[in-house]
Amino acid sequence: MTSLLDPPAAHAAQTSWRRLPAGQQPSWPDAAALDAAVTALASALPLVTARECDLLRARLAAVARGEAFLVQGGDCAEELDAVNAASIGRTAGTLQQLAAVLGYARSLPVVTLARMAGQYAKPRSSPTEIRGGVELPVYRGDAVNGHAFTAAARTPDPHRLVRVHHTSAATVNLVRAYGAGEHAGPGQVLAALREFTDASPERDRYAALTAEIERAGGFTGTGDGWHTPGELFMSHEGLLLDYESALVRLDPATGGAYATSGHLLWIGERTRRLDGAHVEFFSRISNPVAVKIGPSIETDDLLRLIGRLSPEGEPGRLTLVVRMGAGKIRDVLPGLVERVTAEGLPVAWVSDPMHGNTISAPSGHKTRRFDDVLDELAGFFEVLTGLGAHPGGVHLELTGDDVTECVGGGDGIGFGDLPARYRSVCDPRLNRGQALDLAYRLAELLDT
Ligand code: PEP
Ligand code: MN
Repeated sequence: MTSLLDPPAAHAAQTSWRRLPAGQQPSWPDAAALDAAVTALASALPLVTARECDLLRARLAAVARGEAFLVQGGDCAEELDAVNAASIGRTAGTLQQLAAVLGYARSLPVVTLARMAGQYAKPRSSPTEIRGGVELPVYRGDAVNGHAFTAAARTPDPHRLVRVHHTSAATVNLVRAYGAGEHAGPGQVLAALREFTDASPERDRYAALTAEIERAGGFTGTGDGWHTPGELFMSHEGLLLDYESALVRLDPATGGAYATSGHLLWIGERTRRLDGAHVEFFSRISNPVAVKIGPSIETDDLLRLIGRLSPEGEPGRLTLVVRMGAGKIRDVLPGLVERVTAEGLPVAWVSDPMHGNTISAPSGHKTRRFDDVLDELAGFFEVLTGLGAHPGGVHLELTGDDVTECVGGGDGIGFGDLPARYRSVCDPRLNRGQALDLAYRLAELLDT
C-alpha cells in the first residue's frame, strides 16, 4: 500500500526506468517532436480502467491456481493503415471460438485476451536492414516507422505514437461493442464452429467434438458466476517506454500506478534483462503483467525476474509465457517449472508455441509449420502436467482473416501457397482455420 509520504506511484513509474538501459528503443531523430507526442499522450484519455485491470488480475489468479485457462492471441504486429472493423471482428470471433473449444476440452472457464489495440511496436534483431546495397533503419512497428523500404518511411516519427493511441482507442471501442452485442453470444460461436467443421477437410475427425460442445451449450464456466462470453481483455508488448509511461495514471482508489494502454502488458524475450528499464517500469505498474521466456533463460535469473515483477507473490500478477521451440521445450522447461513450483511462486504458465518455431521458406518468407506449433503445445502440456503443475493457456499469433503465412493445418497450406496471401509485416500468423485446427487437434491430444 502506498503511504502519503511516498512519492506518487505514477511519477515513480514514469521516471525511474529512465536511469537504466532500455533495449529496443528507436532513435527518434527529432527530440521536440517526441516531447510533443509524449505531452499529448500524458493528457490523453485512458484506454482501460484500473478496475478492469484488477478484474483481469483476478481472472489470471484463477489461471495460476489451475482453475481457469487463458486464450491469448492476435497479430504479431497491428498496422495503422490496415486496421479495419471486419478484421477486428473476425479476430475477436476466432478468439471466442478457440475459447469455446479449449474451455470445453479442459473443462475450465476461459479468460480471453486479445493481442490487439496497442500491438504496434516490434523488437528487432538488428537496428538496420540492407537491401540491394542500401542500408536503412529496420522496421520497428507502425508505432515507430513505416514498413516500406524507403528512407522516408523508415525514419522514426513520434507522431505515430499519438496515432497508435487514437487507433487503439477506436479498436477497444469496437471490441467492447462486439462483446456486448449479439456477435458474442454462445449461439454465434457454436454456429461458427459448426460452419468450420462442416467445411473442413477434417470434418470426420472434428464432428464428434463439435457435437459435444453444442450439447454442452458452448462456453464452460458460464454457470459459475464469473465468466461472461463477451469478456475480452486487451494486451500488447510494453516495448516503447516513452509511450507506455506517458499513459500511466494514478488510481485514486488504491494509490497504484496503472498502465492505461491495455489491460495486460508483457515484456518480450529481448528486453527482460534484470537490470534493464523494462523490468524497472513493469515493477512499478499495478496491471497484471507477463514476461516471455525463451530457451536461454537460467533458472536463477527466472527466480530473480519473478522476484522483481511479483515481489508480493500475488497470484494473477505474473504470467510466464514460455516460447522454447518444439525441439527444446521438453528439455528446458522441466527444470524451470520444478524450481518455481518448489519455491511456491504462484505464476500462471502459458505456452507461446509460435516464436521458437520460426523458419524460412524457400521463397524467403518467414513461416512456421503447424506441426511444430502443435508439437510445442503438446510438449508444454506433457511437462506441466507431468510435474503436477497447471498448463495455464496458449498465446498465439493469429488472425481471423484467410491469410497464407504458416504452413500445414487442415487445408494443407504449403510453401508454394505462401505468396498468395502473405499479409503480415512481421511474424507469420495462423489463419482462422489453422487456429481452429490447432484447438481441435490439441483437444484430441489432451483427451488421449
Ligand atoms: C512477439 O510476441 O511478437 C515477440 C517478439 O515475441 P518474443 O519476445 O517472445 O520473441
Ligand atoms: Mn511475433
